[in-house]
Amino acid sequence: MLYEAAVAAGMRRGLSREEAKPVSLSILRATLANDPRLAKPSAPGTCAVCGQPDANKPLLPFMTGRAGVFTWLHPGECHREHQARQAMAIDKCIARARVE
Ligand SMILES: [Zn+2]
Repeated sequence: MLYEAAVAAGMRRGLSREEAKPVSLSILRATLANDPRLAKPSAPGTCAVCGQPDANKPLLPFMTGRAGVFTWLHPGECHREHQARQAMAIDKCIARARVE
């Protein structure tokens, strides 16, 4: 629905359907990345990826779309792993929706 609306909006701005598709897919991916249903919150002081506390490395809070609820991550490797997992979850959503 969002994807088709974005394609239609692009076409109203003069893009062909083929030109509007990649832009619309980017909009869909960004929207899904911020969807609270895909967020993986973790307990304060615990990394969502490795499960370790912030004893040796600081944890950074990432928004989940829910007030006061965060995904806590170590910067670097844990953050990259989280991003990769989120990208896979988004890919699965898009594949299930059969966006073309
Ligand atoms: Zn970690």
